[in-house]
Amino acid sequence: MGGNRKVDSRPEVALRSALHRRGHRFRKNALVQVGELRVRPDVIFPRPQVAVFLDGCFWHSCPDHGTSPRTNIPYWAEKLARNRQRDELTTSALKEAGWVVIRIWEHTPISEAVRAIEEKIGSKGVAKCK
Ligand SMILES: [Zn+2]
Repeated sequence: MGGNRKVDSRPEVALRSALHRRGHRFRKNALVQVGELRVRPDVIFPRPQVAVFLDGCFWHSCPDHGTSPRTNIPYWAEKLARNRQRDELTTSALKEAGWVVIRIWEHTPISEAVRAIEEKIGSKGVAKCK
């Protein structure tokens, strides 16, 4: 209770095994070419084209935990701003290419993340399992 922030230091591993347990078939770290852009979502579902990104709170400036480093401020401000821009670019490029994009903060509970993904992939991706 309350102390599970550091334990889940590999959120993408936890998410993948949760999806796997629920019978979903997906690919991890697959390279997706969208126009000029090469994107590597954390998880993709190829049939309904769904790309899932697990965004780190710090690197992607989460509104709840995205802290600003206190040293080297201009460097970090620029770096984090670039990350945000790249996220937006990636998301819109994928959407234009017909992908459904799901971005999940690393602090999101796995059950919630799975639910958000299942909302998008629907029953198509699931082999009959209850
Ligand atoms: Zn966060």
